[in-house]
Formats: sequence, C-alpha cells, structure tokens
Amino acid sequence: MASQTNQQHFLLIPLMSQSHLIPFTEMAKLFASNGVTVTIVLTPLNAARFNMVIDQAKSSNLKIQFQLLPFPCVEAGLPKGCENMDTLPSPKYQPLFFAACNMLKEPLENWLSGLEKLPSCIVSDICLPWTSNVASKFNIPRVVFHAISCFTLLCSHNISLSKVHEKVDSMSTPFVVPDLPDTIEFTKAQLPEVMKQDSKAWKGAIDQFKESELSAQGILVNTFEELEKVYVRGYEKVAKKVWCIGPLSLHDRLTFNKFGKDDKGFIDDSETKCLKFLISNKACSVIYACFGSLSFIPTSQLKELALGLEASNHPFIWVIGKNDCSIELEKWLKEENFEERTKGKGVIVKGWAPQVEILSHPSTGGFLSHCGWNSTMEAISSGVPMITWPMFAEQFFNEKLIVQVLKIGVRIGVEAFVDPMEIYKGEKVLVKKEDVKRAIENLMENGVEGEQRRNKAKEIKDMAYKAVEDGGSSDSNCKLFIQEKL
Ligand code: UDP
Repeated sequence: MASQTNQQHFLLIPLMSQSHLIPFTEMAKLFASNGVTVTIVLTPLNAARFNMVIDQAKSSNLKIQFQLLPFPCVEAGLPKGCENMDTLPSPKYQPLFFAACNMLKEPLENWLSGLEKLPSCIVSDICLPWTSNVASKFNIPRVVFHAISCFTLLCSHNISLSKVHEKVDSMSTPFVVPDLPDTIEFTKAQLPEVMKQDSKAWKGAIDQFKESELSAQGILVNTFEELEKVYVRGYEKVAKKVWCIGPLSLHDRLTFNKFGKDDKGFIDDSETKCLKFLISNKACSVIYACFGSLSFIPTSQLKELALGLEASNHPFIWVIGKNDCSIELEKWLKEENFEERTKGKGVIVKGWAPQVEILSHPSTGGFLSHCGWNSTMEAISSGVPMITWPMFAEQFFNEKLIVQVLKIGVRIGVEAFVDPMEIYKGEKVLVKKEDVKRAIENLMENGVEGEQRRNKAKEIKDMAYKAVEDGGSSDSNCKLFIQEKL
C-alpha cells in the first residue's frame, strides 16, 4: 500500500447481512479515524439503514462514502426488496441470496473500470470469494475480513484438514479436534452446515472461502490477541498474515458514543423502553435474551423460553426477532396475558433492540445468546457473562470458547445444530422452560463458581479496553495493517 496514510483508499465489500454490515461499518470508521479514505459497497436498502455512519463521518471529518450497487433480487429469484439476509422470508432462500451476491461482481467491475484512481486495497468479506477475481483483474491488493474468532478459524481448519469428522460413526459421536492447545470436542451434529460434506445447498462453499482466504494477502479479524493468544498464533501459521483489530464494537462505542444513538428510525422506541427498565433495576440483575439478526425459532420453543424467563428469579429483557414475531406467538402472548403478567419483571422488544447499549448498561448481569460472534464480542466488551444457546453457523465453536476456554459462560444444554432449512418441517423444542430457569439461576447466582465467572468476564473486559486504547494490541495492529506494504 502507499506509504502515506492520507493517500490510502480502502474499498470495503461486506456481505449484505446485519452481522457483517455492523462490523464492516465499525471497521470503516476505525480506518477512517486513522486517516484512510474508505468506500463501502452497499445496496440502496442497506445504505438507508446505515446513513448514521455517513452522518458520523461528516460530524467527525472522516472520509467515508458509500458506493451503491443495485441488488439483483428478482434476477436471482428472490422476492423484491430482499437486499439483506434478514429480509428473506425463510432460510431456504439463503442459497439464492448468495447467488444474488455473486451477481454484484459485474456492476462492481464496471464501477471500478470508470475510476480515475483505483482503491489501494480491497477488504472483502470471507463470504464473497469472487472478490479475489476482481482484485486480481484490477491488480488491487486484497485482504479478507473475518467476523469470527481465531479459535473458530483454527478449529475449522484443523477439522477440514484432518477430516476427523468424517471418521465418526454417527452425528452424535464426539471427536477431538487435532492439534489444538486445549482438548476441544465436537460432534458432527454441531458443525456448521458448510462443513458437512453432504450439504447440497452449500456444496463447495467452504473450499471457495478457503481458497479466497489463502489467496489474499492476509486476514483482518474482529478479535483481540489477549483473548485467544494461542489460537491467534496457531492461525498465523495458516493465513499469510493475521491482524486482530477488535473488538470493533468497543472501539466504536468509545470513539463515537456521543453520536451513536441517532438512529431512532431503526431502533423505534425500544431504546427508551429498555433503558428505562435498566435504570429501574439493580446493578448486574437483568438477563438480556436476544438471538441475533437472523433467528428463526419455532413458536413452541419461544413459548418455553418465555415461561422460563418468567419463572426465573431475575428481571429480563427479551428480544423477539422480526422473523419470530409470528401471528401464532402474538396470539399466545395475548391469550396468556404474558406482557401484563410480567409487567415490572420483564420487557419484550419486538424486532430490534439497542444491544450494545443494553449490554454495556450496569444493570445487565447476564446475556442469554445464540453465540453469534458479534454478540459474543459485545458481551465480552461489556464484561457480561453468557448463557450459551448455539443455533447455527459457527455458534457451537463460540460456545466452546466461551464456556470451556474463557470460562465466562454456562451452557443451556443444546447438543445439535438446528438446520434452518429444516425448521419449518416440525415444531422443535430443544430447550424446556426448566432449562431456561436453571441456566439463568446458575449464571446469575451459583456461589463461588458464579463469582469466579463474573470476575473472569470483568478481567477480559479490561483486556478488551486495553486492546483498543492508544498503543493497545488492536490499535497497533490496525496501524500496522494500514502501513503494511501489501
Ligand atoms: N443486534 C442488535 N439488536 C438486535 C439484534 C441484533 O443490535 O435486536 C446486533 C447485535 O448487536 C450484533 C448483530 O446484530 O451486532 C448480530 O450479530 P451476531 O454475529 O451476534 O449474530 P447473527 O445476526 O449473525 O446471527
């Protein structure tokens, strides 16, 4: 890359899904705060959601711009307006969604061809392997961004390389991941869909992702070295270069806090509702339950969750994701008079909650989570211990890291990945009311063990703060990356 920081221009190409767009925009602000000009490739609907980034950029003299490309929903066979993974009517549309993402290659190349001066670097999402062809065609250095941990990267690499998962006789037979610093066991039922060789929908995807990563000049990871040093060192032997620059959400919260609450249209009144509730409760007493941006949880399961939250001894905030707010669930909530019944004890948010604000509030004492990596990093940055309820993708890896390696969480007890493609074929209840109640009480109370877990979470939060401070590991890695001659 050019030697002068102010000549740098990074082109960021995210997957159009909230859990990718959020860290990508946080990363854009991080680079721009370090003097780099940043262009983020977005589609119109997604750009409208992230206008706040442009407002913050303007208020802070940051050079961030969006390059809009129309999203080929209809051409790819998707319903009109499905520009973000969270707008898909069901998970079965995901392969079509990826096909539509692949179709962005041509308009992106057309735009690049018309530029007088090309960007100095492409930072592309691991889920968009075709960006490696674009980078080679225009001779632009490229790095890959991972919104997952080095623990997950190393586990999946070692599993794929050794094929240890192909040697077990059943989906539920445990196997040990080879060549790791800790003894980490999984079953085949817990592996992400893309890693299962029998998955038709994702056939070949993992090889393409891997190839795109290995042909890149290095990888940027939303983690910090102190969190998982041995796994970072382990993965440095696989990728050409590894720069850990996270937690991106923490950097963002500390740097842009005063502008961060502008996006009222997106969050609706949930911000006021949640913050009022948090203020009215004692320190570390509230359980926050939220399952990310893509949850598709059967209504029967949501009922058990609701009853478990109610039965526990602790106040709660429960976010029911957009896709989970079914007519059937609404009907049940009404019949049970659930919201009235739990008034004062709990708050229900339908749609989207201000997660980072909730987690960083002193009244929040525990996080019941599906273990998405962004959620995990946000909990870690706030020193909040977790109840782990992994559901899909790499979430079982995250559970292992949280519970076994970092020791900042308790398991709710699910043993198998839920295939989102299968979810509509039957009502599945994996977690009972009693499991929810037991896990909450175990996390929030539980004598010495609970205390140790809370202390560990606080220790790791302090490490996260140090990493993003001036001269901290992530701050230095970010600067080194910007200066790197790729
Ligand atoms: N999120 C949020 N409010 C919600 C639900 C999700 O702000 O009501 C954010 C959350 O803070 C995180 C992202 O959406 O940054 C979810 O990403 P994660 O990797 O945890 O899960 P995924 O969406 O990939 O399942």
